[in-house]
Parts: sequence; C-alpha cells; structure tokens
Amino acid sequence: MPWREIQRHNFTRIDKLLDFLEMSDPLRAQIWQKPRFPLNLPLRLAHKITKNTLNDPILRQFLPLNEEMTQTPGFMTDPVADATFRKGNKLLVKYQGRALLSTTGACAMNCRFCFRQNFDYATETKGFKEELSLIAQDPSLSEIILSGGDPLSLSNETLKELIDQLEKIPHLKLLRFHSRFPIGIPERIDAGFLNMLKNTRLQPIFIIHTNHPRELDDDIFAALKKLQCLNIPLLSQTVLLQEVNDNEETLKMLMLQLVHHGVMPYYLHQLDRVQGTAHFEVSQEKGKSLMETLLASLPGYAVPRYVREIPGSTNKTPL
Ligand code: SF4
Repeated sequence: MPWREIQRHNFTRIDKLLDFLEMSDPLRAQIWQKPRFPLNLPLRLAHKITKNTLNDPILRQFLPLNEEMTQTPGFMTDPVADATFRKGNKLLVKYQGRALLSTTGACAMNCRFCFRQNFDYATETKGFKEELSLIAQDPSLSEIILSGGDPLSLSNETLKELIDQLEKIPHLKLLRFHSRFPIGIPERIDAGFLNMLKNTRLQPIFIIHTNHPRELDDDIFAALKKLQCLNIPLLSQTVLLQEVNDNEETLKMLMLQLVHHGVMPYYLHQLDRVQGTAHFEVSQEKGKSLMETLLASLPGYAVPRYVREIPGSTNKTPL
C-alpha cells in the first residue's frame, strides 16, 4: 500500500484510540481530551501498545495526559531559541558549516515531548526560494539538514525539486535527513525516495529518531537496509524520557538492536524543556549514571553521546 494511504489510518482522534486500546474510564479521566498539539499516531505503533494501561512506553510518547497542562517554571515554548537563529522563514543557522531547513510542519507522528511543538512553521510561503538564496550566498555552509517537522512528510516530487536546487549550490557537499518516519511508516522508504538519494551528487546522511526497542521491528530494519545498500550512513538519536527509557535495560536493548542492524547510536538527548513536558524529564545525574552503565556494558561504538542543547552554544553540549 502506498505510504500516503497508510498514513490516512493514523489515529488522530483520542476517543478512537482509547476505544482501540480498550481503556477503562478511570484511565480515560487522566487524558487531556482537547490538547493544543493534536494526537497523531500511526496504526503500526498503536498495535505495539499494551491495552488498558497508561504505563506503556510507546503510548506515553504520544498520548496527551492531563500533566501536560501543568505550567512548570523553567519550561518554555521555545527552549532551544529556534526563533533567534531563524534566517528567512524556514532556515535556522545555529552551528558552523551547517544549516537546518525546516521543510514542513507535518510529521508521521506527534511526540508529546517535541521541542518544536510550538514552532511557527511558516506554512503560508510555499517553496524554498528565499532559503535557497540565503544558502547560496553563504559559502561557509557545506551541509544542509532537512528537518521539520519530518522532511519525509513531503512528497517525492517536492523533495526532488528541493534536492535538485540544493545540488546547484556548489559549496554544498552533505545532505542530512532527520526523520522518525521509518518508525511509524517504514513504507515511506519507497522506490522513488531511494532513487532520489541514489542519484544526488550530495552525500546523504540519515538519522532516525527512536526512543524504545519496542518501536523497532524487522520491517523497519528491512526498510533501513535499503538505505544502507546505497552506502548511506545511518545514525540514530534518542531522547531520554522518564518512564519510557530511563533505565539501563531499555537503553542497552535499544542501542544493541540498532548496532546489530548497522545503525550507529549518535546522540542521547537530555529533554529540551518545552512547556508541558516536565513529566518526561530525567535528572542529569540519573542520565550520567545511566551513561556509565552503558559504557561499562556495551562496546564503545554502541554508546551514544549524552548531550543537551544550550541556546547560543556553538555545538550540542556533552554531559
Ligand atoms: S517526529 Fe520529531 S519533529 Fe515530529 S513531533 Fe516527533 S519529535 Fe517532533
């Protein structure tokens, strides 16, 4: 089935998801029924959730709980100061040599802890004319990061048009994708997308975002293998989340599963303190101690770097 059609089966209505999960009334009372950041959950992930509990590590990442309404000091709408680094409507230039193009506001799934959930996605301007011109004028840039939202939400036609334009900018060498799409809809890695990456003169790098070993399965790794067959480096990043993956066993299993399939763990992120996500925060002390256990039990290449984003810093800050 084409990926767009599969996406139409995403859960976007909370009542439908709760019925599907056979959630009891007392549990339903803990759920925020009309959240500002809407529910969006692929059916494939919903099938992996244990029914009638709120303590499932996959469900916790996608279901709006009443806790999100709590205003917590130190948690804000734009914790990584994206607005400060915005050049043009959709371009963010934070770090030397690379720039991030926010290609779309759409995602395969809406993660409750997302630091861009309040980002004003400038959807009124179609295309990337202004951003392409800014990139062309800055020879210090060698890498463009396609992010979002999720860049794989764009059609192959739109992505191809964008990549064709980027290829014409001589100082660009690398094209990085940040995507969670393969976790929810691995069918998105389709022939058209693969063909595009095969034929671009830019070196693609693909970073998947995954937080729990149960998100992964053979179909997902089969889709990722198609990227690996094109010699595209595959990396992963994970957010450290309370009651999702804040224990040694889960993190270890996740990292091992990834390296067993040739996906190299890149970053373990400390949560960005976006308003409404305090219930996901793990203390840095606990994060550091978890990193020590990973270092002691995994080969070095399987251990991600534990980092946090500090606005204004020239790179992600190692913890
Ligand atoms: S897929 Fe990424 S950008 Fe989209 S909601 Fe989740 S964390 Fe945010």
